[in-house]
Amino acid sequence: MDFTLSEQQTMFRDMVRDFAAREIAPLAAQMDREADMPEALIQKLREGGFFGLTFPEPLGGLGVDTTTYGLVVEELSAASAGVAVMICVHNSVGSYPIAMFGSDELKARVLPRMAAGEIAAFCVSEAGAGSDAAALTTAAARDGDHYVLTGSKMWVTNGSRARYYVVLARTPGSVGHDSVHAFLVERDAPGLCVAKKEDKMGLRCSDTCVVELDGVRIPAANLLGREGDGFKVAMKALDGGRIGIAFQALGIGRACLEASVRYAGQRIAFGEKLWHIPTVRDKFADMAARLHAARLTALHAAWLKDQGRPHTKEAAMAKLLATEAAGHVADEAIQIHGGFGYTKDYDVERYYRDVRVTRIYEGTSEIQRLVIARSVIKELG
Ligand SMILES: Cc1cc2nc3c(=O)[nH]c(=O)nc-3n(C[C@H](O)[C@H](O)[C@H](O)COP(=O)(O)OP(=O)(O)OC[C@H]3O[C@@H](n4cnc5c(N)ncnc54)[C@H](O)[C@@H]3O)c2cc1C
Repeated sequence: MDFTLSEQQTMFRDMVRDFAAREIAPLAAQMDREADMPEALIQKLREGGFFGLTFPEPLGGLGVDTTTYGLVVEELSAASAGVAVMICVHNSVGSYPIAMFGSDELKARVLPRMAAGEIAAFCVSEAGAGSDAAALTTAAARDGDHYVLTGSKMWVTNGSRARYYVVLARTPGSVGHDSVHAFLVERDAPGLCVAKKEDKMGLRCSDTCVVELDGVRIPAANLLGREGDGFKVAMKALDGGRIGIAFQALGIGRACLEASVRYAGQRIAFGEKLWHIPTVRDKFADMAARLHAARLTALHAAWLKDQGRPHTKEAAMAKLLATEAAGHVADEAIQIHGGFGYTKDYDVERYYRDVRVTRIYEGTSEIQRLVIARSVIKELG
């Protein structure tokens, strides 16, 4: 495997880096404070093609490969992880199920609109079903050529901004994986209501909501895959989604390292810059090495996906290693900033809060280890 980025990948990354520095970074602290994102910024992201990153060009997207997608997510995350997660969910778990499992009619109707910036969301989790997604209770009752959905979804990223929701629901009264189905639900469907917006520790400008479904009638043609495919649809989508979260963590981690090196170049203690203190230098070495190792793992997972090869284990490894590395790096960044890092005057305080959730969503670190262990036993047992 060659880790050299192509000319096009480098160009893309640099363009997004410039865009993020100009349009996103200056707003990041304010968006965090206000727990909101200006519509004008979302519109600029639309115009920049960010909502069509992974969509094929004939459908109005940019059709980038997974590596390029990862680089873009890293750049956005270094500026604002909240903006990045909106783009990630839209380009992966929110749209992939339609692209891979939707009917031709559904794809032709919906994907160009998504690529143009009508936002997508992914609704699996419920109050009683997180890691154990099979415990979900949202019901999908067949009624002629419709399904009627009733239940409550929690933690829906893009919940209030979305136009399209991928929803997992089960045959009423059933248990287990086989009776779970995936559907596309549109925002204007009567009975769909965006309820509470969560007041979160980090990613504050990203909207994370409860979505209530009260007898929402949707055409049977909105079923993704076949009946009973719901789990397969979600797990396939998450394989790609986890690569994105790995790059998200890497972006936040890189921002932490850059901020720490800058700070240590100015801060004087015992008559010299922190740069010259061996313990601080050790921290830099460790932070950089952990991020580098995690980045290679993430690039490998992205490469496998682009080759059309199995990547479930490698995506889980990338997410696990990158999010744990970035969590450590964010913690060290606060340490290097001392008391100043514990205040909102410095960006590392936000990075520390933002990075924490990367070890929780799209499967906790513990769940990534379960996924990896299952593969290892299958290969070696
Ligand atoms: C900001 C944010 C955005 C989110 N966005 C979305 C979204 O867009 N769509 C969506 O569907 N969901 C979303 N989620 C939900 C997220 O995926 C879940 O929070 C996550 O899967 C964990 O589920 P839980 O919170 O119910 O924790 P639980 O499953 O209750 O886990 C609690 C603890 O127990 C551990 N644990 C549980 N089971 C096991 C096991 N078998 N082995 C070892 N340890 C275990 C977990 O690792 C964790 O440490 C989001 C969450 C957050 C916080």
